Amino acid sequence: MSAAYASGAPRSTVRATMRGAMSDGRRDYDPARIEADRQDAWAAADAFATPAPDGRPPVYIKPSSPFTSGNLHMGHVRDYSIGDAYARFRRARGDAVLFGFGFDAFGLPAEMAAIERGVRPADWVERCGERMLGQMKRLGFSFDFERAFYSSDESQYRWSQWLFVTLYEAGLIYRDDATVDWCDTCQTTLAALQVEDGRCWRCHNPVRLIRRPTWFLSVAPYLEENDRNLELLADWDELSLKTQHYILGRSDGVELDLPTPDGELLTVFTPHEGALSEARFVLLSPRHPDVERWTAEPAVGEQLDELRSGGWERSARDAAAVPVIDTGASIGGPVGAELPLFVSPIVDARFGPTAALGIPSIDEADEAIAARMPRAQGAQSPAGAEPPAAREATRYRAFDFSISRQRYWGTPIPVVHCEACGVVPVPVEQLPVRLPRDVEPTGEGNPLAERPDFLEASCPGCGGTARRETDTLDCHFDALWLWVPAAVPPEARAEQMFSHPDLRRWLPAERLVAGNDSGGFVFDQRVVTKALRDIGPFSFLADGEPFAGCLFHEMVIADGRKMSKHLGNVVDPDELVAEHGADTVRLAVLYAAGPAKTLNWNEGALRFASRFLGGLWKYAHERIAAAAEAREDEEAAADTAFIRERLGKWCDNGVARITADLQQLQMHKAVRNVTRLLERIQDYEKRIVKRRGELGKADFETLLEALALLARTLSPFAPHIAEELLLALGEDASVGFPAEGESLSRPMARNN
Ligand SMILES: [Zn+2]
Ligand SMILES: [Zn+2]
Repeated sequence: MSAAYASGAPRSTVRATMRGAMSDGRRDYDPARIEADRQDAWAAADAFATPAPDGRPPVYIKPSSPFTSGNLHMGHVRDYSIGDAYARFRRARGDAVLFGFGFDAFGLPAEMAAIERGVRPADWVERCGERMLGQMKRLGFSFDFERAFYSSDESQYRWSQWLFVTLYEAGLIYRDDATVDWCDTCQTTLAALQVEDGRCWRCHNPVRLIRRPTWFLSVAPYLEENDRNLELLADWDELSLKTQHYILGRSDGVELDLPTPDGELLTVFTPHEGALSEARFVLLSPRHPDVERWTAEPAVGEQLDELRSGGWERSARDAAAVPVIDTGASIGGPVGAELPLFVSPIVDARFGPTAALGIPSIDEADEAIAARMPRAQGAQSPAGAEPPAAREATRYRAFDFSISRQRYWGTPIPVVHCEACGVVPVPVEQLPVRLPRDVEPTGEGNPLAERPDFLEASCPGCGGTARRETDTLDCHFDALWLWVPAAVPPEARAEQMFSHPDLRRWLPAERLVAGNDSGGFVFDQRVVTKALRDIGPFSFLADGEPFAGCLFHEMVIADGRKMSKHLGNVVDPDELVAEHGADTVRLAVLYAAGPAKTLNWNEGALRFASRFLGGLWKYAHERIAAAAEAREDEEAAADTAFIRERLGKWCDNGVARITADLQQLQMHKAVRNVTRLLERIQDYEKRIVKRRGELGKADFETLLEALALLARTLSPFAPHIAEELLLALGEDASVGFPAEGESLSRPMARNN
C-alpha cells in the first residue's frame, strides 16, 4: 500500500460520510428547488458579467435579438439553448466570454399590439421586455443581463440616427420613389402584413398602391465583397452560408456592348454564353440607369409609370404574368439582326437592375416572354454569323432596399425639409431627434405629422423654418448594428458607441447563433460593417465581417406544422419549465435535432431528457451514499485496477468527442455523447460487480470521479443539475469543462 493512499484514507472517509449525510434528504430530483438555488448563486456571484480585459482570449457570442413580443417561443429557447451551451463551454474552458444581446423593440408588430390594447407602444415594449427577461432568467441562460438594451431607448436610437447621417453623408442612403399600399379611409400607408386580400387590416376597405418618396440604403457597392468573402468564412455553417448565397443571387455569364440606334452602346448580360447568336430580344430593368432614354415616347412612358406604381415587385418572378413593356425600339444584336427592346422587372428578379439578352431557345423564362411579345418572334439571325467576343461578367440580384416607414413607432429619420435648402440632415451633435413617447397610436393617419412639437424645426443649413421628416426608420435599419452595443460597457455607450476600445477586443463576434430566417439581417449587417470600415469607425475590421463564425438553426414546429395560435399547436416554454424544469427543457430542445434540421417538437425528446436527468440524479446520489459504506481492500483494488483504467480511457474518449461536438455547436451530438458516458460508467460498475461481487473503496472513488467528469461535460447543457451534482460530489460547482486529455486522476494510483 502506498503512503499516499494510507494518509489519504481518513480524509476521504470523512468526505464520503459528509456526502452521504448531505445527499440523504436530497435523493429526489427536484428541478424547481435546485434551479432556484443555482440561479441565486449565479446572481450572487455575478457569474456571467463580461470580464474586463485580462489577457484571456475574448470570445463574443451573439444570440439573436428578440422582438419585444412579450413571450419567448420555442424558437427562442432553441436559439438561446445552443448559444448558452456554447458560451458556458467557452467560459469553462477559460475564455473571456461576452454573451449579450438587445431587444429589437421598434417596429410594426409592437405598434399593432399597442393599438389593439389601447396602450402606448413605449409602455407595451417595456412590459414585454421585462417579461421576456424573466423567462430567460428562469431558463438559466447565462447572458450578461447588465448589457441588455432596447433599440427603442433614446440612448440607443440616437446612434441609429448617427448611423443614418453617417451613411447618408457617405452617399449610401438616398431618397427615391417607392410603391406602397395606402388606405384612403385610415389615411395611412400599410405594410404587407396589414393588407389582407387587398383590404386594410383596420377598416377592411380596399387598399390602393401609391408612389411616394422613401429612403433607400445602397448595398450595391458591397455586393462583390460580400460574395468574395464567403470563401473566408470558415466558421460559418452550411445553412448560414446558403442564405448569403441566396440573398446575393449571383449569376455568372458574359456581357457585351450592343450598338443602339443613336450611336451609343448598351451593355447586355446573359448567363448563356454559348447561345449568343440565338438572342431574340433585349430586356431592360425598369431600374436600369438608362431606362428613361428608351421610354421617352409618351405612350411608353405612361406604361412605365403604370408598371412602377403597380407593385411589380410582387409578381416579378413569374415570367408568364410579369409586366413587359415594348418600347418600340430595337438595337443591333450580337450577330447583326435587330433585337426588339422590352422593359420588364423580371430582369431585376433574376439578375438585378441590368439589361439582359432574351434567348428563348434555351431559357424557359425568356421562352415564356417571347410567347407573349409578337416582336420577339420576328427577329432572325443570319445563318452562320459569328457573335463577337464577350467578356466574362457577374450579376447580383440583391439590390438597395427601402429603410423608411410611414409609422410612429420607429427611429425618427434625422433630416429636415427646408424650402430653401431642401433635405438637410440633422448635425450629429444635435442628435437625438426625439420620438414623442406619450403617443397612443390608433392606426389612423401619421401621429408624428399631427404633432407640431415634433414637426417644427429650424434648418441646420440656413436657420430658417423647416419641417421634420415624419417617416421613421424601419426596424431593419436598427438591426444593422444591433450586434454592436453589447460589446460596449453600458456606461460608455452614450459617448463611445462606435469608438470604444473594447470594440477592437470583442469584434468580430466569434459566433453568431440565429434562426435561419436571419439571413437578410446578417447580409445587411455585413454590408454596413464594410461601409463603417471604409468610413473609419471599424477600420480595424480589415475584411469588414462582423461575425467570424455563424451558426444558423432551423425553426421549431409542432405536429409537422408551424406553431400558431390559429392552429392551436403552440408549445409554451413557461408551461414546460414549470412542469419539467429548465434543464430538462433545454436538454430536450438540444437533443431533439441537429441545428440544420427543423425541430418537430414532441414529447419524446422531453421524456428522454427527463428520464436521463432524473436517472442520473438518483444514480449519482445512491453511489455517493454507497461509497461512504464501501470497504477498503487492497487485494481487490489491485484486481480491478484494469477496469478502472479502462473507465479512464472511456472518459478520455467521451470528453474528446463532447469537446469536438461543442466546438462545432453540434449540441445534439454532444448531448448524446454525454448520455453515452453515463452508460459507460454504469457498464464499468457492472463489470466490477461481475468480477468481485461489489465495488471496493478504490472502485467507488473512481466511479465518483467519473461522475464528476460527466457533470462537468453536462454543465453547458443542463447547468443547474450539473452544478448540484458537483457540489454533492464534493467538488467546486464552478470547476471548468475538462481539458482535452484530462482524465480521471487516480485510477492507476491504486495499482501499486
Ligand atoms: Zn383602413
Ligand atoms: Zn435651409
